[in-house]
Amino acid sequence: MEINGSRLQKDLTALADLARTEGGINRLTYSDAFWRSCDFVEQKMREAGMTVRRNALGNVVGTLPGKGPRKIVMGSHIDSVPNGGMFDGCLGVMAAIEAVHTLREQGLQLEHSVDVAAWAEEEGVVISGLMGSLAYCGLPLRPVQLEKMGQYGVTEADVAACRAEGPLDYSLELHIEQGGILDAEGDDIGVVSAIIAQKRYQMEIDGCANHAGTTPMYLRDDALVKAAKLIVRCSELAPQVDPNMVITVGHIEVTPNAMNVVPGRVRFTLELRAAEEASIQAAYEQIMEEFGAEIVSTQLIQQERAYRMDPTVMEAISDAAASLGLRSRVMPSGAGHDTMSLAQVTRPGMIFVPSVGGISHSPEERTAWKDVENGANVLLQALLRLDGLGV
Ligand SMILES: [Zn+2]
Repeated sequence: MEINGSRLQKDLTALADLARTEGGINRLTYSDAFWRSCDFVEQKMREAGMTVRRNALGNVVGTLPGKGPRKIVMGSHIDSVPNGGMFDGCLGVMAAIEAVHTLREQGLQLEHSVDVAAWAEEEGVVISGLMGSLAYCGLPLRPVQLEKMGQYGVTEADVAACRAEGPLDYSLELHIEQGGILDAEGDDIGVVSAIIAQKRYQMEIDGCANHAGTTPMYLRDDALVKAAKLIVRCSELAPQVDPNMVITVGHIEVTPNAMNVVPGRVRFTLELRAAEEASIQAAYEQIMEEFGAEIVSTQLIQQERAYRMDPTVMEAISDAAASLGLRSRVMPSGAGHDTMSLAQVTRPGMIFVPSVGGISHSPEERTAWKDVENGANVLLQALLRLDGLGV
């Protein structure tokens, strides 16, 4: 049994056309393009034989009844970043609809009921990320989400009504990789092992501001030179601690930031991401050991734990890929996804397909149609395998 690749391509293109602008795909949550797209997703779910639930929060959830009440959910998001691409999120939603459509055409009823979800506000551009999937999972919304949702007409009753009905056994999310590993290595499918943890710090290094002409090099205490050494060291340290770890200094403020003054103070962000929280801790401790004398302040400003994918679901995805003759690789996800919500209430899994050149959150984002089709077939086959396992 295989999905209909040309129908999926047609539907993904039609969905993109509803939000296409000169700069790229613009489907910010609660925009006109967003609601138009929700209508389209609902229509496609109905054509695939599902009943559909919707409300002001912006989730679109289709259900295909199974023989029993236990559920498997497949889904992703349709909201985009400003000037985004056509595959981020939309692929996982439309491929899940296509998988259900295929089941219906084959006249196959599963043991599990299947939900297909388009979760609202994953990107967090409008309010704050993962809002739709948190509500679906019955998890508490973030304070900023509760505070701002009223501006968009979302009530607490809407949030409560989004909650999944029936016990959830598994979740599956198909998504573009958004990195360049599958494309570079020539692999067809990524079997996600974990969504990686991250910690973000705000740090400060002090020096002594002074005249750039009269202060000889050996008498300088240049804060930016010290910060530069730390940044270079981080780029060496990350792969030494953990091959999958990434460390980024992405924001930096120099004081006084003048051409003719030795920098007196540097404030910068240090972001560490890895699948193992222990790797983040080890790298941070190493940085503090080497540069602690120069760092005058360090403050943890944000952290996110790692979310491990379920081994049974990973195996179902790997087996599904192998049965289709596809080359797969087990890999962590460096980006956050709705599956972070699902991982707190059910046994989660994620399937990646290659992003050409590793580009996403950009109008240049592209995935070959063959890979789109492969991903949807793996999604369908993984669903069938999990359904056969029962609980
Ligand atoms: Zn996404």
